[in-house]
Amino acid sequence: MLVTHTIDNTREELDKLRNNNKRIALVPTMGALHNGHLSLIRLARRHADHVVVTIFVNPKQFGPAEDFDSYPRDLDIDLEKCRNEKVELVFAPERSEVYDQDNYLSIRIESINRYMCGGSRPGFFEGVLLIVNKLFNIIKPDVAIFGQKDIQQFLIISRMVKEFNHNIELLMAPVERANDGLALSSRNAYLSDHERATAPGLFRSLQYIKNQIDQGVNTPSLLIEHQKSELEAKGFKIDYLDVFSFKTLEPVNTLSKDSGYIIAGAVWLGKTRLIDNLLIEL
Ligand code: AMP
Repeated sequence: MLVTHTIDNTREELDKLRNNNKRIALVPTMGALHNGHLSLIRLARRHADHVVVTIFVNPKQFGPAEDFDSYPRDLDIDLEKCRNEKVELVFAPERSEVYDQDNYLSIRIESINRYMCGGSRPGFFEGVLLIVNKLFNIIKPDVAIFGQKDIQQFLIISRMVKEFNHNIELLMAPVERANDGLALSSRNAYLSDHERATAPGLFRSLQYIKNQIDQGVNTPSLLIEHQKSELEAKGFKIDYLDVFSFKTLEPVNTLSKDSGYIIAGAVWLGKTRLIDNLLIEL
């Protein structure tokens, strides 16, 4: 497995890998790899000849009061996991390789980041688009894989690919969960034993809302308020919990037939922010 740290070296190695039109798949990550990331790598493998994983804790997608400094980092263990998956190349740059001291440009996002994580983490998706745009330009993959766990991220990146004409196919991998339903996340490492035991409550609330909608509830607001109270009683602090339109990413009061929705929540357990979502097609 090749491990690169500079953009020039990455491009040189990719030129060789791409020889004879081999297809390249990109799996961007912030490291602290878990089975969710590995499921993306396995999906990538099925759609390309070579799999490239990037490991970079992107400072531009963390707010000043967020967990950039404490975010888990262990490159050696991550590289071992990538080696076991037979990844061809890992690009793990330093911050100074990716960002100049001076930047004069930024990407602005209209409307689709007003709610969900975009609403509660100002600047987050602009930071995500900046790094993903750079990685697309550095790696030039044929296909890139992102997880449904970060559904808004996937949908905003899809808009970027369309509106900025990146010639890249995007694939969304399903949410990988622990046995008790908790969505895997690098941030789960922050949870105490007690919080870890409580954490699957978010998934259970999403499932409850989904079941009710499947059974015909089409105005879910009371149902959602009730689930919020239940979660609060268990010790969660609610950032958001709602049903959003798959198309506009805006909250929806009345659900209609032939439409796609995202039942999504973000909650705090102590100092850990958890997110999860379920998709529903009526
Ligand atoms: P991160 O390292 O958290 O930035 O995540 C890198 C990629 O892995 C993103 O596309 C995430 O959506 C995806 N991912 C994270 N957790 C999971 C999970 N539990 N299941 C599937 N994909 C995930």
